[in-house]
Amino acid sequence: MATRKRVAVVGTGTVGSQAAWRLASRGAEVVAYDRFAPGHDRSAAGGETRVFRSVQTDDGRYVPLVRRADTLWGRLQAETGRELRRLTGSMFMGPADDPEMRTVMDVIAEHGLAHEVVGADVMAKRFPQFRLDEGDLAVLDPRAGFVRPELTVQTAARRAEELGARIRRYTPVREVSPVAGGGVRIRTDADVERFDAAVVTPGPWVGDLLPDLPWRVDVYRAISAWFLPEDDHRAGAERPAFIRMGDTHFYGIPSPDGLSVKLGLSQAHHRLVDDPNRLNRTVSPEELETFTAMVRRYLPGLNPDPVRLSAYMEGYTGSTRPLVGPLPDCDDVILLAGFSGQGFKLSPALGDIAADLALEGRTSQPIDFISTLDRATA
Ligand SMILES: Cc1cc2nc3c(=O)[nH]c(=O)nc-3n(C[C@H](O)[C@H](O)[C@H](O)COP(=O)(O)OP(=O)(O)OC[C@H]3O[C@@H](n4cnc5c(N)ncnc54)[C@H](O)[C@@H]3O)c2cc1C
Repeated sequence: MATRKRVAVVGTGTVGSQAAWRLASRGAEVVAYDRFAPGHDRSAAGGETRVFRSVQTDDGRYVPLVRRADTLWGRLQAETGRELRRLTGSMFMGPADDPEMRTVMDVIAEHGLAHEVVGADVMAKRFPQFRLDEGDLAVLDPRAGFVRPELTVQTAARRAEELGARIRRYTPVREVSPVAGGGVRIRTDADVERFDAAVVTPGPWVGDLLPDLPWRVDVYRAISAWFLPEDDHRAGAERPAFIRMGDTHFYGIPSPDGLSVKLGLSQAHHRLVDDPNRLNRTVSPEELETFTAMVRRYLPGLNPDPVRLSAYMEGYTGSTRPLVGPLPDCDDVILLAGFSGQGFKLSPALGDIAADLALEGRTSQPIDFISTLDRATA
């Protein structure tokens, strides 16, 4: 009989909590560590909502991974009875000749994705909350909506515990090191433990934990702002998530309260974070001005004074393609990091891929384009 593999998971945030669930589901003995506790709000996950969408704006190679994630979102919901995701649709808006909009249409055509092109008349009647510019295209992705980050992380972590995983809360891992002849050693302030493999998902702390990583991951601070409609009618009966592309680039997500909308900005507006332990969570009036201008121009039904603000941080690679796979000097250490603003929707699939790599050394999911194998350094 095959022996049960012992696998460490370092970081029980977005991807680590899913990895713990998938590993425990597949019979591994799992010990997971977090410097805080599942569902905390000091890292990349939090702020009530994240977008889930089937249509991709930058690279169609994510589509099969999103499909796998879609299936696993359903499975985690079914296993736990929690509403982790709500499918509201997602609207893509921008100049028809914008490169990102072209990618949207190419990805839809290449993968045969469900969609609806929404003309200006229909837009005004069905979606009065959005204003289009002359020459804009609007496309609705119906297999899209929002997921709940805090609830998802806690639910995946709890499900992993129900399946036998142990989570060491408030236990920062100080070192992950390969053992000669195979396996991995995990050092905390309290002890050193040995495992067959480790899944390492430290989010913005990847540079702290793995200072010799041959790939660069820069940490950025990303802010969000919540707005209320001026009146309930103008909020729109249908409330899809949305992304505006072109010169003015931002996205919005309907809140679970059924009324407010959370807006977020593209990477160009994010600020570098020198030290993930000292994230500046105060949003300045100058930063707010960016949101106010966008609301006034494109979201006529919203009151431009925000009712809530937040700051989180995320690791970005130079190419924005995440790092998924073994470390160069150790096949037993599986790294998943640098999600560059798109990790949440994919997280159940990423957790499953982590389990494949830690337990079997390979995965059938098409990850060549994000794999650490044969990846150039820097
Ligand atoms: C404002 C914002 C909006 C976003 N919007 C979207 C969106 O709409 N859709 C989407 O798909 N993605 C979105 N993203 C991206 C997505 O949220 C991230 O890609 C994802 O959360 C990253 O997950 P992670 O597991 O790498 O990091 P995290 O979720 O931050 O998890 C890392 C965990 O590791 C722990 N940890 C770190 N170091 C150690 C250590 N040494 N020992 C023990 N534990 C440790 C941390 O405490 C943390 O719990 C957004 C990101 C931000 C910041």
